[in-house]
Amino acid sequence: MDHFLYKNGILHAEDVPLPLIAEQVGTPVYIYSRATLERHAQVFQDALAALPKKHIAFAIKANPNIAVLKVLAKQGFGADVVSGGEVARAVAAGMKPEDIVFSGVGKTRGEMEYALSVGVGQFNLELEEEGFALAEIAVSMGKTANATLRVNPDVDAGTHAKISTGKKENKFGVAIDEANGIFDRLGGTAGIALRGLSCHIGSQLFDLGPMEAAYGRVGAKVAELRGAGHVIDRVDLGGGLGVPYERDKVPPSPAVYGKMVERATRGWDVTLMFEPGRVIVGNAGVLLTKVIWVKPGAVRPYIIVDAAMNDLARPAMYDAWHDFEAVQPTGERMVANIAGPVCESGDTFAMGRDIDRVASGDLGIFRTAGAYGATMASTYNSRALVPEVMVDGDKFAVVAERIAPETIIAAEHVPDFLND
Ligand code: PLP
Repeated sequence: MDHFLYKNGILHAEDVPLPLIAEQVGTPVYIYSRATLERHAQVFQDALAALPKKHIAFAIKANPNIAVLKVLAKQGFGADVVSGGEVARAVAAGMKPEDIVFSGVGKTRGEMEYALSVGVGQFNLELEEEGFALAEIAVSMGKTANATLRVNPDVDAGTHAKISTGKKENKFGVAIDEANGIFDRLGGTAGIALRGLSCHIGSQLFDLGPMEAAYGRVGAKVAELRGAGHVIDRVDLGGGLGVPYERDKVPPSPAVYGKMVERATRGWDVTLMFEPGRVIVGNAGVLLTKVIWVKPGAVRPYIIVDAAMNDLARPAMYDAWHDFEAVQPTGERMVANIAGPVCESGDTFAMGRDIDRVASGDLGIFRTAGAYGATMASTYNSRALVPEVMVDGDKFAVVAERIAPETIIAAEHVPDFLND
């Protein structure tokens, strides 16, 4: 459930009519609903209520806006981060350093040092060498880093290839069979406390079967490692739960996921850790856009909107679907293609879509744009960096400013040697 609803024929975010935001902030603009974020956080927590020991770390990569993180921090969420920049964001948003989990396949020594200096609670290791490097850095700082080893369970998550992470050919984690040797060599090393396993098989998952299979393999490995004398007190199960980009395609609910987790992890006796991203923020955001032209096409009209692939990359990157709706629908429909102004044929949001009839100047939204939306935006074609707004009841505020091309140009320099 979200809080983007029509009132008197006009689409609102909570109690704010979207035309008001368009008028005051301009378009394109991302709009987040605080009430929706809070509701999603609550639903996820409720789904895991029966688990005795748990830790929820929001996967910041899905939406790193500081205001969004602040809302989730107030709900008691920690953060799953994949870069030094994300560590800084989590801290800036008021998340407790000990609640931050540092994932990521290519942490640099500098990032590890920085994370240790702020007191990050856990590092999810991607390879043995990284563990020894982390241990060495921690010793030099007089610290001990808590860590888990990310294992790759070699299961097909059944999602888009570009967001699938748990097959053996993917770059993530170590083959699960290698875990024993790594624990033997790394466990007991000064500077590191290797305390468990982590795993994340992919994103936008609609089928819990592969997740349950992966968790089964992780559970068996926990028993094996304990049998070999290692102390395992935590397992990080990652994120991955899908969201309904298309209204009639509904993923398993957090509650159903929670039941599966209870079943799959019974008897593990560890702190279970979770890294949800998309399921928390996806439906809490929309991208508001204005129709520039309705261009007659050879086959059907092209609705040219002022949002483009640089603002919302998912359709171009993953052939992803985002529902499009008029902000003030007339009740009439049309079949059209929807595209942005960027000079790429890939800058297309939809082809042959049955949508609300729109004309130039009308406002529309792409739904379910709160995850992997603004954070992937670029300034390609020298377009402005898209702004973000948060709504809270009848109030709204700009939570990330539009960065104009002039500002970006001002950060570029023509060297002296070109001035002769
Ligand atoms: N954890 C890790 C290690 C990830 O790589 C990702 C995303 O790919 C997530 C958590 C969040 O996944 P999702 O947004 O699908 O919940």
